Amino acid sequence: MSVGQDMYKLCEKMFPYCRSITGDGVRQTVEALKEVQPKIKVYEVPSGEKSFDWTVPKEWRIRDAWIKNSKGEKIVDFKKTNLHVVGYSIPVDKKVSLAELKQYLYTEPNQPDVIPYVTSYYKERFGFCMTQNQYDNLPEDTYHIYIDSELFDGSLTYGELVIPGETEEEIFFSTYFCHPSMANDQLSGLALSAYLSKYVESKDKRRYTYRFIYVPETIGSLTYLSRENHLEHMKKNVIAGWNLSCVGDDRTYSMVSTRYGNTLTDKVTKNVLSFIYPEYKCYSFLKRGSDERQYNAPGVDLPICGFSRSKYGEFPEYHTSKDNLDFISSAGLFGAYNVMVECIEAMEHNHRYKIKCYGEPQLGKRGLYPTISHKGGYDEVTAMMNFITYADGTNDIVDISDIMGVPVRDLVKVAEKLRENGLVE
Ligand code: ZN
Repeated sequence: MSVGQDMYKLCEKMFPYCRSITGDGVRQTVEALKEVQPKIKVYEVPSGEKSFDWTVPKEWRIRDAWIKNSKGEKIVDFKKTNLHVVGYSIPVDKKVSLAELKQYLYTEPNQPDVIPYVTSYYKERFGFCMTQNQYDNLPEDTYHIYIDSELFDGSLTYGELVIPGETEEEIFFSTYFCHPSMANDQLSGLALSAYLSKYVESKDKRRYTYRFIYVPETIGSLTYLSRENHLEHMKKNVIAGWNLSCVGDDRTYSMVSTRYGNTLTDKVTKNVLSFIYPEYKCYSFLKRGSDERQYNAPGVDLPICGFSRSKYGEFPEYHTSKDNLDFISSAGLFGAYNVMVECIEAMEHNHRYKIKCYGEPQLGKRGLYPTISHKGGYDEVTAMMNFITYADGTNDIVDISDIMGVPVRDLVKVAEKLRENGLVE
């Protein structure tokens, strides 16, 4: 549980930073992540660089923004919440009538008490966001609108961490940091990734190499894949991976399948979730929305699933001021951490086993029968015999877990005992 509390504290720390797809808010966020995981390497990619079909945009910097009424009172203040400004707004400083002001205002009419999250990355404009309630009560007046921002040739920031294992085969984790002050839709993924990397690092035996990346959504994952030989390297080595998004609430668990839903990642995620939270939601790739889009695109074809608690777009607080620190919890974050740790362990222990004798082996002469008593939630002798029955060389341990309805973690102990006794290979 203390890991959950640490993750929550990290979210609290990062919450106020004004992030976007580029800029100092992202750099502050990476610095906060590095306090937890100092080995994250930070890269800067210049504006204008090509990322497949896209181009790294200009960097956005914002210092202040507000709307004042004719009495000089700030009725909207960026310093109170950065959601008040449309992301990537260009500067403005002018007096406007109420009718003109309304052209620049964005609200969420269906949820009158939330400030929506709005961006305009690829078209230069400016705008403000407020609650529908505030909008409806704006009096006729002359308003002063002010945004102190700039768009300039700067760079896109991303973070990368590779933790080597015994083999070059890789497990990949991606998460993103381009949203301003929202907790579930995005800070939760960052905290989970940072603490998972510490878990991986603390393992004394690692079969796989682990790659963690921290990128702005879409343009960042595309930039990462297109740089150096990342795509080629990952296509060769990545055997499973997850895009972590919205992993901090405690309503449900969800996954987004890969494009055809037929990879090892799909199988392992479903297996683990079926024991931890059988009512989990499995969304088809048609319901994709985060960076699993890029990783599963034709030609990229990486086996990457989306992993969420309440998935983006499926909870009412999504992309609003209500996705705040009250919406996530240390228990919610810890639940997601636990699922990913189980997925990592299932991967690390996933082998194909084959029984070495014909017919049922005689467990008694090996001391495996009489000494085993009935304990726990299932009968260990039955588990052993069932495991042997399906250890025909075609099933991996996750398949056998699915067939038997016993978690991989428990079967690993059974398999180990049988292997020590020379019964399976
Ligand atoms: Zn989002």
